[in-house]
Amino acid sequence: MALMTGAQYIESLRKLNTRVYMFGEKVENWVDHPMIRPSINCVAVTYDLAHDPQYEDLMTAKSHLTGEKVNRFGHIHQSTEDLKKKVKMQRLLGQKTASCFQRCVGMDAFNAEYSTTFEIDAKYGTNYHERFKNFLKEVQENDWTVDGAMTDPKGDRGLAPHAQADPDLFVRIKERREDGIVVRGAKVHQTGSINSHWHLIMPTQAMKAEDADYAVSFACPSDAEGLFMVYGRQSCDTRKLEEGADVDLGNKQYGGQEALVVFDDVFIPNEYVFMNGEYDFAGMLVERFAGFHRQSYGGCKVGVGDVVIGAAALAAEYNGADKASHIKDKLIEMTHLNETLYCCGIACSSEGSQTKSGSYIIDLLLANVCKQNVTRFPYEIVRLAEDIAGGLMVTMPSEKDFKSDVVVGRNGETIGDICNKFYVGNGKYSTEDRMRVLRFLENICLGSSAVGYRTESMHGAGSPQAQRIMIQRQGNIEGKKELAKAIAGISK
Ligand code: SF4
Ligand code: FE
Repeated sequence: MALMTGAQYIESLRKLNTRVYMFGEKVENWVDHPMIRPSINCVAVTYDLAHDPQYEDLMTAKSHLTGEKVNRFGHIHQSTEDLKKKVKMQRLLGQKTASCFQRCVGMDAFNAEYSTTFEIDAKYGTNYHERFKNFLKEVQENDWTVDGAMTDPKGDRGLAPHAQADPDLFVRIKERREDGIVVRGAKVHQTGSINSHWHLIMPTQAMKAEDADYAVSFACPSDAEGLFMVYGRQSCDTRKLEEGADVDLGNKQYGGQEALVVFDDVFIPNEYVFMNGEYDFAGMLVERFAGFHRQSYGGCKVGVGDVVIGAAALAAEYNGADKASHIKDKLIEMTHLNETLYCCGIACSSEGSQTKSGSYIIDLLLANVCKQNVTRFPYEIVRLAEDIAGGLMVTMPSEKDFKSDVVVGRNGETIGDICNKFYVGNGKYSTEDRMRVLRFLENICLGSSAVGYRTESMHGAGSPQAQRIMIQRQGNIEGKKELAKAIAGISK
């Protein structure tokens, strides 16, 4: 089963006994739940496109472990070319789904784990790298989606993990046994956790000796004993529960997904443990995962941005405003911002380098600059899209009104007739298409997809301050002072 199709992926989820809760209740059939299904459809695209010959080069790669063709989401980057292809694949998927397609967190975790476990072993003589390679072979052979999970609840941000009033606010080793460890705690806002086959857990920050029990990394199936998830809600999410909902959803087919993942004393056999108290490597794993995921945003958000720009251009046309010079200029500005993000994604990939394990890693400074820009530009792109769309994006009646045959007019007009009469734009286009594109923009700017495009641009892969710390660390201000001194003739 080297390469699953989207349909096979969806069927494979049905075999899992993943425990999911939403609105205070257990969701028995979460695969078909109308609020969850769009996020599953979105991951399914990562499977289907791998079978499309025109995308084969981006969507698949040759496993360096087995020589087999695997989905790129399960691949360890072997060159800067691989790093660039990853970004291009993410842009493509953003274009096809206009959503967060979730699978990248696993890919980024694999790549961070691969090089870090190698270096832990080199220092401590452990065998984490071999264990990890075996796990990765399983992932590649089964074409699993894996949730790379980093973010802990963190409680009081001013306190270290061991100093929290509740010791469970960071995932920790509760017990060490001969054959494995028992873990307790939770990971918050986990992208794609429910529709992942497995979870790959990493520490959330650099750790000190007193936090050694929190320096833990491991893999486990999503339906492991003691593991459960509470679904995160999104703006306008219950629209998906409305009967016959279509136009009002903006993006009916695809969406993202976040959840709280709880480890209520989960046993992890030794073969799936990749860090067990080596606190001095927690920072390296975090830095590398964050770096890879910050690179990712130079692809996925750009792809979604492409669709936003396209939708804004359509809205202008449907409004009859597309010839106005200020509209053209706004579309240029949106394109400029979007391509700047892409430049960052490609640049940090091109400037990547080989790790001690042989795999390739991005340039960390440029990856952090990439994500820092992502915390800003999509907001400006959305602002311009809203400007072009006009206020109707948030004031128009529901699709049920547009389709209603309830008679309200003097001459027998229905609510539908009235809505279609007064919401007409450029007569060359149907009112429904105008509604559709405005609802799409509403969805991406303010609705459930705003999680994946707007707010995730701010906080996903680390909030802006996390990148600024890395930029400060990697920015070599001392070296730059020397440059200035040399030119200015300052000798000391
Ligand atoms: Fe992938 Fe982007 Fe979603 Fe992260 S935010 S999982 S990089 S699509
Ligand atoms: Fe993300």
